[in-house]
Amino acid sequence: MGELTLRGVGAAPGVVAGRAVVLGTYVSGETVALERRPAEMERAREALDAEISALEDIVERLRAMGRAGDAEIVETGILMAKDPVLLDRIEQHIMSGQSAPTAISRAADAIAHVLDGLEDATLAERAADIRSLGRRAAARAVGASLGSGGVLIATDLGPADVADLGLAATGAALADGGVTAHAAIVARSLGIPMVVGLGPEVLELKSGEVVVLDADEGVVVRRPTRSRIEAANQDRERRQQARETARARRNEPALTTDGHRVTVLVNAATMAEAVEGFELGAEGIGLLRTELPFLDAQAWPSVETQVEFLRPILARLANRPATVRLFDFGADKTPPFLRGTAKRGIDLLLESPDVLRAQLAAIVEAAGDAELRILVPMVVHSDQLRAIRKVLDEVPGVGQRRPQLGAMIETREAAMSAAAIADVSDFFSIGTNDLTQAALGLDRERSRTAPATDPRVLRLIDVTVRAAHAAGLTVDVCGEAGSDPTVLPVLVGLGVDELSVAAARVGEVRQWVRELDYATCRNAARQLLDEAAHARGERV
Ligand code: PEP
Ligand code: MG
Repeated sequence: MGELTLRGVGAAPGVVAGRAVVLGTYVSGETVALERRPAEMERAREALDAEISALEDIVERLRAMGRAGDAEIVETGILMAKDPVLLDRIEQHIMSGQSAPTAISRAADAIAHVLDGLEDATLAERAADIRSLGRRAAARAVGASLGSGGVLIATDLGPADVADLGLAATGAALADGGVTAHAAIVARSLGIPMVVGLGPEVLELKSGEVVVLDADEGVVVRRPTRSRIEAANQDRERRQQARETARARRNEPALTTDGHRVTVLVNAATMAEAVEGFELGAEGIGLLRTELPFLDAQAWPSVETQVEFLRPILARLANRPATVRLFDFGADKTPPFLRGTAKRGIDLLLESPDVLRAQLAAIVEAAGDAELRILVPMVVHSDQLRAIRKVLDEVPGVGQRRPQLGAMIETREAAMSAAAIADVSDFFSIGTNDLTQAALGLDRERSRTAPATDPRVLRLIDVTVRAAHAAGLTVDVCGEAGSDPTVLPVLVGLGVDELSVAAARVGEVRQWVRELDYATCRNAARQLLDEAAHARGERV
């Protein structure tokens, strides 16, 4: 039998060959014969042990990279895997005739279920961790190990799943999902190739079978030929080499051939992304997504929990820009305690002044010597900035090193009133992900394209940049358009000062800037806008 190609849409670039790890298929109705149950228990124990030693390896690697904070998080997973309660439950399931993968999945789910119901928000957050541990150990019991370069197959993934698997998975293939959903953003950040929208057929893959995932072509190939596997391995090597080159040039500024400087920052939601971005030359953080680590939270995170998340990341940014965005919960980033809400971003926070106060206090407390910028998501009106400024001015300790307060321009309303918002802001950051969808009337979670070069989007960006510059503000683009090689020259040409991009893209983006001629970019951008205006019958 020859190759079988399943078609979807590439959501994070790259080509990889590896063994499939099918998520969510570990629970089977199979009954294990009485005499085989002790051996089945041994298989479960081995799977857990293998998971523990893989996690120990990761801890060691993280410590060697100076990432003590991340190492501690992974260590929590080791403690969970060693918990005798987990092993007891697994044994009970196996002795009642269940297979090792089924027993592991059910035992982990049962413990997670108990944690889910607890009043203590921090403990409840561990529920997601134990579920994820169960999935990985169950995958090992069926013989597929993510640690050995697994390609993750699932119906859909939350951003937390992708981040969690980021250290081990080499690719992800989803039956559902959209290219602009947050799971895809996290995959791009971590450099994990991802194909989405493959349809239910992809779920028929067997854990352990070798596949090639080609996210550049948007396909998953079953029964790949040897030459396809080799090509995939070469692609991986090429990407690794490009990374090494970017690392070697990380201290050189990103200047166009005619000497125009563009600041390149990193988007992050985890320490791993921040560290990777700095390795590749990011000059600071342009977008710290504070909501992503709390997507499984059962309540608004406390000041302490937030400081615990923020402090180690911000500690690496002495005298460098650290742009911390206020919680942008809502839509595909809705944690259990906010289910049913139709609101999003700053609207939700202004509805809960105590939560807003707590978050601002946590950010100020964790800032250390970072050049702090606080970013407000989903702004629609200048009054929202005024309201936040008022609360910020009352935060204890804020007077000593006054943080900058900036607006995200990612709604049509914000772009259309950019001048009024600029009057009450210290900087702007354009969120092209949401802005593109809003300008074109697309559905962000399902959409297969995100054409930021559409004249309707470019016009909103142009209006925003002009308003910002007229008020003396810096403008950043923190949406994915900033790392799209076809859009980047236009953004630079429109006068965008800073690009904040996914960690895995920092090196490439800095290199692309070095290959640009600023004067040519300016002319090209102006021409695109003029053509669009002309098509609308406007005088230019
Ligand atoms: C954006 O909308 O472009 C953006 C950066 O914000 P997020 O992707 O987190 O919604
Ligand atoms: Mg957004």
